[in-house]
Amino acid sequence: MDNTLLQENGLTRTCSVCGNKLTRYGSKVLKDGILCRNCARLASEWLDNADFAEKTVAQINEHLAYRQKNRERLAGFKGNKAVEGKYSLYIDDENKDFLISKRADYVKDNADIFNINDISRIQIEKRKYLNRDGSDIYLHLFVRHPEFNDVKFQVNEFGYLNPDSDEYQQALKLAYEYADALKSRK
Ligand SMILES: [Zn+2]
Repeated sequence: MDNTLLQENGLTRTCSVCGNKLTRYGSKVLKDGILCRNCARLASEWLDNADFAEKTVAQINEHLAYRQKNRERLAGFKGNKAVEGKYSLYIDDENKDFLISKRADYVKDNADIFNINDISRIQIEKRKYLNRDGSDIYLHLFVRHPEFNDVKFQVNEFGYLNPDSDEYQQALKLAYEYADALKSRK
């Protein structure tokens, strides 16, 4: 967000976690503080602005500590690509762990590791928009995890698809491939 807004609101100009000065963009508003761009980059990509806004400084510190542990855990993750897409699904069949990563280098990315047995529900969502034509397909996983309630991502690479198009049908098929790959290993 634009840091001038933060200043106008009389909020702190330094990061509540590392104490560094905030840059103009990229800061995240927390419940009782502000996170700088560099600290925000260490957080999980599954947190959106609303998730940050609900977290206290103490909770974000816990989250960043969890992220460090996740990085260490990734060294032992032996995942194979189960589904390839804009977000690829990697599954470690031995430990029943999985991760979803936008990039091939999920170690560098520090992609969050989940266990298949921690999934409580898988939902394929067709999202329509009020002011625009077209729809998007989302895969929504509900998880039992200390840091997350759910993980959600857009399956189709480009947004606002015509529901009658081949691209839409392919995205829907891909969404079922993710869901089936996870369900079949439960
Ligand atoms: Zn910081």
